[in-house]
Amino acid sequence: MYSKLPQVGQSIFAQMTALANQYQAINLAQGFPNFNPPDALIEFFYGALKSGMNQYAPMPGYLPLREQIANRMYSRYNKTVDPQSEITITTGATQAIYSIISACISPGDKALILEPAYDSYGPSVLVNSGIPIYVRMDEPSFDIPWQKIKDAIQQNDIKVMILNNPHNPTGRIWTREDYMKLIEITKDKKILFIFDEVYDALVYDGKKHISALEFPEFWENSFVCFSFGKTFHTTGWKIAYTIAPIDLTNELRKLHQFTVFSVNTPGQYANAKFMEYDPDFINGLSAFYEVKRNFFLEGLKETNFSALPCEGSYFVLAQHENCVNDEAFCHHLVKDKKVAAVPISAFYHDRYDPKIIRFCFAKTDDLLESALTLLKE
Ligand code: PMP
Ligand code: GLN
Repeated sequence: MYSKLPQVGQSIFAQMTALANQYQAINLAQGFPNFNPPDALIEFFYGALKSGMNQYAPMPGYLPLREQIANRMYSRYNKTVDPQSEITITTGATQAIYSIISACISPGDKALILEPAYDSYGPSVLVNSGIPIYVRMDEPSFDIPWQKIKDAIQQNDIKVMILNNPHNPTGRIWTREDYMKLIEITKDKKILFIFDEVYDALVYDGKKHISALEFPEFWENSFVCFSFGKTFHTTGWKIAYTIAPIDLTNELRKLHQFTVFSVNTPGQYANAKFMEYDPDFINGLSAFYEVKRNFFLEGLKETNFSALPCEGSYFVLAQHENCVNDEAFCHHLVKDKKVAAVPISAFYHDRYDPKIIRFCFAKTDDLLESALTLLKE
């Protein structure tokens, strides 16, 4: 049968959620909160529906939302961006990344991807007849493997690098020195960067997310992707944004206009109103999720799991002495313990298995507690 992506199956997140439903298990697999967004945000959405904001939004996005985003980028990252020409609202970061890759990758172009990696990167490169060059981060530290990256860049003509910080699934974050290293090893190359920063508001222990936007060295060659799904507890609204200089933004929009054209109007309106109404909501997210992270990590100590450090995102990686195959182990967990997790082999193109699994702690305390009780048994 014809297939452009014969090696690609159903996403692990959909698979694990289906299994969680089938076995009536607690779903700590797919990354989404099990609680509602703030009431005011919902009211703004409802108000938009009632007041007739039900037709196409402008192709690049509802302008007041782009203006709010520009304010946020300035106050958070000291970066001035033009809402008209440098911000595009997308249907989630997944669509942004797909459209950017389609806009940048021609047949035979190489894209460097650090693994473990969010599962859409590789297939998005492949479907555009690009060549993913995978570089593995070594477990259990998952430090950025600078020497391997340097070697890969020397041995390959890399067109695009896709980088994710805070990192899913490892929870690692970048330091200023990491960015300086990247600048140093790429300075003589013409590489386009896709910085996936969808978890930018979720960094813990008093640390601050450092965005690629803070480095003028990257600006001309970079797309920086963020997502409201993570910041407003609205993964199902699929509203995100990409920031890039005008030339790159124009290239992204050429694809964006033919993949989605524009993102749902009431959701964009609601996000804009909410950012104006409660500009500090986003700043409070780290404290909000840090409590959950700590609760979950403390609870795991009473189980036979050992957790790896989590500096950002809403994921915790864990090892277990009985885990000899992470996929089989996750199947056992969901079926017999009624807790769903994600095997991180799914984040490697060759299904490399570090025997580590991922839990999502973006859940209410009672659900986390119930999950921990089941995991203790
Ligand atoms: N990048 C990473 C690293 C993610 O974990 C996710 C999904 N949560 C996305 C991109 C996609 O975000 P969205 O839901 O906005 O499409
Ligand atoms: N990013 C989410 C995760 O890592 C899931 C996104 C999706 O289901 N496509 O769990």
